[in-house]
Amino acid sequence: MRTPFVAGNWKMNKTIAETRDLVSAMSSKLREISGVEKVLCPPFMSLAAAFALLEGSGIGLGAQNMHWEEKGAFTGEVAPGMVKELCGYVILGHSERRAYFGETDEIVHRKLIAAQKFGLTPIVCVGETLEQYESNQTREVVTRQTSLGLKGVSAEFAPRIVVAYEPVWAIGTGRASTGEAANVVIKDFIRPAIAELYGEQAAQAIRVLYGGSVTGANAAEFFSQPDVDGALVGGASLKVDDFVQIVSQSKS
Ligand code: PEP
Repeated sequence: MRTPFVAGNWKMNKTIAETRDLVSAMSSKLREISGVEKVLCPPFMSLAAAFALLEGSGIGLGAQNMHWEEKGAFTGEVAPGMVKELCGYVILGHSERRAYFGETDEIVHRKLIAAQKFGLTPIVCVGETLEQYESNQTREVVTRQTSLGLKGVSAEFAPRIVVAYEPVWAIGTGRASTGEAANVVIKDFIRPAIAELYGEQAAQAIRVLYGGSVTGANAAEFFSQPDVDGALVGGASLKVDDFVQIVSQSKS
């Protein structure tokens, strides 16, 4: 039995003051929803403000990225130990990081190892581009990203990993995949790749989310699928009612 999981990726939106307003508006409503792990991922600058408001609320806090090194001459970067001071979670390998900041599977893997070392729950994103989708490369791409990104952690840590299947063509486009299609990718491509690394038990224990234009209106379609354990939500996570509606539909 996998506990449902919903995370909101705010991307590069909301100042510190705006974060306080949005977290305050959301947290009282989110607190009332049980049976689902809920995580907010504001920008780095807003994490401390969100942390102060969320402490003791049962709502988790996540970073959208981090560096893999513990410290040093990496101007502009944030180290895993710094993330850990405020967060329990970290998004790794988001397609925007891969596309705009050159993140490779090897980099995602290094960050995963750092997450293990610092006790952070990683939310590892995988997914094919439109071009790859149209040329039937989905299986190859998500299998490669899962195998290379997730390899090399301990048997104890592996079940803690959360994977987000996010077809790039569905992110921020309003063109969501279908529940059925997402379920096929997760069940037939992603879980088998995890099973290759850590065995069938771990593959069945790991939460795999769908992400890509999830809204309050279409979330139920994804959550009704047996292999979809929740959602990574971008745009709709900035809207109180939409995000609360998504979270409330995900609960077990
Ligand atoms: C995302 O950023 O991970 C995402 C899924 O965005 P959106 O929900 O806006 O498509």
